Amino acid sequence: MQEVLTAGRYFRKHFNCNVYKTPISILGFTCPNIDGSKARGGCVFCENESFSPNLGIQKPKGFLLNHTSVENPFIASQLVQLESQFNQTKKILAKKFKAKKFLVYFQSFTNTYAPFKTLKALYDKALSFEDTIGISIGTRADSIEKEILEYLSEKAKTKEIWIEYGIQSVYNETLEKINRAETIEDIEKQIKLTRKYGIKVCAHLIFGLPGETQEMMLESVKKAIELGVESIKIHPLYVVKKTALANDFKKKQFTPISEEEYIDTLVKTIKLIPKEMMVQRITAGISDDSLLSPFWCNNKHRQMYNIKEALKKEGYEY
Ligand code: SF4
Repeated sequence: MQEVLTAGRYFRKHFNCNVYKTPISILGFTCPNIDGSKARGGCVFCENESFSPNLGIQKPKGFLLNHTSVENPFIASQLVQLESQFNQTKKILAKKFKAKKFLVYFQSFTNTYAPFKTLKALYDKALSFEDTIGISIGTRADSIEKEILEYLSEKAKTKEIWIEYGIQSVYNETLEKINRAETIEDIEKQIKLTRKYGIKVCAHLIFGLPGETQEMMLESVKKAIELGVESIKIHPLYVVKKTALANDFKKKQFTPISEEEYIDTLVKTIKLIPKEMMVQRITAGISDDSLLSPFWCNNKHRQMYNIKEALKKEGYEY
């Protein structure tokens, strides 16, 4: 049986213990694909509340950051919020799993879309937390500036520094359909640049995007491999209420991927992935009533069981 390099295996190998990601959602952050600087409305599937519904975020009225924000009157509250979210999750993980080491994960919105001073303050704070081995930052390829890459590059000499870029698909026609407002050429350029700075990259891909065949999904996987990213995250496209995709679904203009096709594509993906590439996530779903379709995405445990069984049949242990 060949072991897939899961996040658990990767971190145990490098830190001799389990390392747990602590998701963070900071008030005042948005996305250039939402605030109009690139596009409005966001990606068709994006309903940001669903990223972290339990974090109780209070959005500051009328205040949202971007790269050109000069003042950030919320920085003190943002730092408090960061620390309190981290401590809360750390406590739960310590109690449940006896967790000892953590990676702070800036998850919601575009986490580098703010002035350098704000980002530096937040990242410095996260890296100062006891038992933290590093940070992982979810962002868009068009929203990260040279100054922040230089800063993260310095930190990467002693800490685990990851940037998670949404690729989603390598087909510009698909990126257009999902209102991504960026091209694969720009994403590729940014991933190459980030890796030159010695920062580890995790690529996000989605299977089941509008109009995509299995061959197209596997082409996206091949491109991520070719770019040399250190890790990959994959999930099926599922439809959440209050999104543009929900409207398309209701009008029968979008049909979600079936579980069979998803698993088959995933098994083919795992066969392509080099042994040293970390596979951080192989599915996702949502178990509350915000999920419109497909219903096989409403139970993560069942999804994982079915995927693991299919992988086992092909000689892979996830
Ligand atoms: S880039 Fe991310 S945060 Fe922005 S609209 Fe798309 S999914 Fe949402």
